[in-house]
This record gives sequence, structure tokens and C-alpha cells, in this order.
Amino acid sequence: MPSTIRAAVFREALQPLTIENVDLDDPIGREVLVRTVATGVCHSDLHYVDGENDLQGFSSAPSTVLGHEGAGIVEAVGDQVTYLKPGDHVVACLSVFCGTCEQCLSGHPARCQTPLRTRAQGLPPRVTQGGREVGQFVGLATYAEKMLVHENAVVKIDDEMPLDRAALLGCGVLTGVGAALNTAQVRPTSTVAVIGCGGVGLSVIQGARIAGARQIIAVDTFDSKLEMAKGVGATHTVNATNDDPVEAVRSLTHGKGVDYSFEAVGFTKLARQCMEMLGVGGVATIVGVMPTGAMHEFPHSALAGEKRLQTCSMGSNRFRFDIPNYIELYRSGKLFLDEMVSVTRPLDDINEAFRAMKAGEVARNVLTFN
Ligand SMILES: [Zn+2]
Ligand SMILES: [Zn+2]
Repeated sequence: MPSTIRAAVFREALQPLTIENVDLDDPIGREVLVRTVATGVCHSDLHYVDGENDLQGFSSAPSTVLGHEGAGIVEAVGDQVTYLKPGDHVVACLSVFCGTCEQCLSGHPARCQTPLRTRAQGLPPRVTQGGREVGQFVGLATYAEKMLVHENAVVKIDDEMPLDRAALLGCGVLTGVGAALNTAQVRPTSTVAVIGCGGVGLSVIQGARIAGARQIIAVDTFDSKLEMAKGVGATHTVNATNDDPVEAVRSLTHGKGVDYSFEAVGFTKLARQCMEMLGVGGVATIVGVMPTGAMHEFPHSALAGEKRLQTCSMGSNRFRFDIPNYIELYRSGKLFLDEMVSVTRPLDDINEAFRAMKAGEVARNVLTFN
């Protein structure tokens, strides 16, 4: 029996999401039906709502259920699922992996290109409304009371872990901590600068601290976020409204520049600043999602001295390996998640959650379901 559930639906850019009933099909094959317990509100969803990114490539339907940072409890599984059973607690991740391609087998499942985010052609869509297809953002659609996903889009976690904290591990924390530990591989005693102190940037700071960086410089335009940055491991802060971040970082590193810099917002201007604040041999990592069609422009000299610029997809995660490890780091007090959840709200408050995020009032909003 298909389930009718409430979900936050995107219809048009620059319009609020609307809470509507949609229908979820029953799980087939390797799919699992998960009752959503909590979902973080991530900036990437806001990029679509604000019209900075277009949803093409993710959804061709006239309306789409957004959300991609969810955790919940398995309700039902398809007949080919062996990894999970009803009652299991899970965190969802958009890095759905096949497990058999070259990228998966060489340790890079976040680069997997096998199309598992939607059902195969010819099968009925997973999400519908009045019989018409509704898009399922990145194969998850977590702003909904239930999610119907491929089993390789979730990791099983132990029942003791609070799901409103675990949800953050599905995107923001996975991406930020992974950017430091997996993508850039920050070394002990190194120096780091992070531009942007939202949920992802704060997680990069945490990853750099866990890796043993000796200096972590946080850059943002909100003092409130810089305070949060100090709370999770930044050793220095720069408010980019008052000070030029490149000069400030150079001065804090005695003119040398940092070993690692991270762009955690999604602006080309900030990516350039990341390169300009590097020391010789440094690595700049773009973590933020850039607007559709964004172009980079920088002088060759910005990368002279064997500096490198790289992108980062979802923290180069191996989420079934990383998320259980991050849960252990949370338990041992090394990874801060409680500090990252500024507020929990019901699904109906989704548009208010976006507003608060834009205003820099929160690290993470988490929506919870009863
Ligand atoms: Zn996200
Ligand atoms: Zn694969």
C-alpha cells in the first residue's frame, strides 16, 4: 500500500516551499522505506530555492521534494534487501554508491556515477501526487515524513545514537570533516584557513582540529558564526566585513600563508581568496557548491610555487565507513554535534529555517518529526 505523507515541496525559485501531501510507492528490489525522524536544513537546498542553482539534472518534474540530510528508522524493505531490516536506525546520504564500478572499488564511492538515485526507466516513480511524478531531490527527499531510497543511500547506525544529531552526519558534517580528513588530508602541525562558517565550514574546522592542525583561521562576515567557529576549534577569527581576509591570513601566518585553505560557501571570489592566502606548496579545496555556470578567473601567479586547487565532492566520503567513525568521535567528545544544532523545529517551519540560515543566526536548523 503506497503511503501518503506530508512533505515540503519546491515548485518555483524565489517562492517558499509548500507543505503538501505526496504519495510514496512501496519499496521494491533494493529499496528501503524509512520513517524520517530528523533532517538537517542544508545550504544547498537554499541555493535552489533562491534560484542560484537549477534543479535540472536532479529532477525534471514540475515539483520536487527537497532535503538531503536525514536520519530515521527503517519501516519496510524491498525483496532484494539484505543489509537492513525494519526497525534499523539509519542515516541517509546522497552519495549513493553501486559498490562495483572502478571508483567504488578503488576507494572513491562518492565519485560513483551509476544512476541509482531514481528507479530504472519504465518503473513507476517513487514519489507521486495525484498520479503525477514528483521529483525526489538527489534520490533522498528528506523534507518529508518518510523517504523511499536505495539501500546504498543509507548507513545503519546503532540505536543509541540520537537521530537529530546523526542527521547532520549525512551531509554537512560528512562533507566538512571529510574535506579536511579525506580530500585535503590535513597534516598535524599544519596551518589552515576556512572561509565560511556555516554547518559545512564549522565541520571543516572540526576536521582540521581532529587532524592536529596547529593554527585554524576562521573567516566569515558574521561575528555570531565566528564565535561558533571558536567553540569548535578555530584558533583565530577574521571578520571579512572589517578586514581583507587574504591580508589578515598572511599577517596571522607571519607573511607565509597557510598550508591548507577551504572555501565553504560557494562563491568564485572566495575560491580566489583561498588561493591567494596559500603558502608555497599549499592546497586550496573548494567545498562549497558553486552557482550553475560559475567561472573561475585568477592570475597564474596565484598558483605559482606548486600550489594546488581542487574540488571536493561530499567530503570524498566513504559514508558507510566514515559515519560510524564520526559517531565514535562524537561519543568520545572529539566531534561536536550538539553545538552545531542551533534549533530544532517542525517541518512546517522550513521557510523560517531558511530565513534564519540566511541571516546567519544558526549553524544548523534541524527539522524533527513526531
Ligand atoms: Zn547538504
Ligand atoms: Zn560505483
